[in-house]
Amino acid sequence: MTAALGIKGHCAHCDITFELKPWQLNAIAIEEPFDCPYCQRILQLNCPVQLRHFKALDRWALVRPSMVALTCMVLIVALVAEWLGLISVIGQFNISLMVVLLHCLVLRYARHRQRMTLDLHVVSPVLPIEQLARIAGARLSQR
Ligand SMILES: [Zn+2]
Repeated sequence: MTAALGIKGHCAHCDITFELKPWQLNAIAIEEPFDCPYCQRILQLNCPVQLRHFKALDRWALVRPSMVALTCMVLIVALVAEWLGLISVIGQFNISLMVVLLHCLVLRYARHRQRMTLDLHVVSPVLPIEQLARIAGARLSQR
């Protein structure tokens, strides 16, 4: 998940914002709690809106390669059209300028969307016994 780099996490307990490492991002992606590197509390992303936003980042990672392909294609088509005499040199120049400008704008927007700070909340660790009791309870109620 290289595109997700630059995402920060904010610990609700020690009030420190830190850059999330790839393994921490993976933990968030699978909704698994992990330790705060500063206060060692167990953190989890509880906000459903932020979680949805976070999971949509994969789609933003595709923006860059597809924009590069699109820009190259438009530049080549404009060049060929000028050679064939379909458009003037000025026209070709204008199209090229527009597409490069659009390229920069889209990438800037994608970068902006990828930069985010996740509010991480402290979760109380579930004791293994408690968890077992809950599973046993659920099984009993099924009968
Ligand atoms: Zn902390």
